[in-house]
Amino acid sequence: MFVVGLTGGIGSGKTAATDYLAQLGITIVDADLASRVVVEPGQPALQAIAERFGDHVIAKDGALDRRALREIVFADPDALKALEGITHPAIGQELRNQIAASKSPYTVLVSPLLFETSQKDLVQRTLVIDAPAELQVKRTMARDQVPEEQVAAIMKAQLERTQRLDQADDVVENHGSLQRLHDQLDVLHKLYLDLASHHS
Ligand code: ATP
Repeated sequence: MFVVGLTGGIGSGKTAATDYLAQLGITIVDADLASRVVVEPGQPALQAIAERFGDHVIAKDGALDRRALREIVFADPDALKALEGITHPAIGQELRNQIAASKSPYTVLVSPLLFETSQKDLVQRTLVIDAPAELQVKRTMARDQVPEEQVAAIMKAQLERTQRLDQADDVVENHGSLQRLHDQLDVLHKLYLDLASHHS
């Protein structure tokens, strides 16, 4: 199985890129979605979280109370480590299952934390969607109706743009129209089909 890891900062255009690759028939495995699936009611990771942090992190309807959990881990690095020790292996297993079930010529794993986690070990090649910081801010503010400070704070917590670019096999510059994004992806799609066909 040939897997391309796709990443980028907030509002860089990861979803715009994966929407297009999905249109080309490529299976998209989404780490953000997987991180929600593994803490759904009935999942072992949710049980483990309740045991570690107490039943008050479970809402009345049985779902994870994200706000309560965030308050605990926000100010406590050890608690955050413990939480990640539960969630990261569960997310990794969910991603491996979804990748194994993919039937497209290659598979894209999209993750904002590709380089920051062992998710990078699941991929054969990496693609960074890159946009200038001003555009990341502008697009995210327009999409989420949030103030600039909130976007800036998230960007500050994310990997530096240069660090991300240093680790990329391929880079798409998303500073123009969607058509220009698609044109660059068309070229990479051909490359990935070729690489996948030679990959055992
Ligand atoms: P996040 O990390 O926050 O999930 P993302 O990397 O998935 O963000 P997108 O949601 O794809 O980013 O893009 C952010 C916003 O910018 C969206 O509203 C998207 O439609 C818009 N956008 C992305 N690329 C372009 C483009 N080339 N031209 C115009 N709008 C764009």
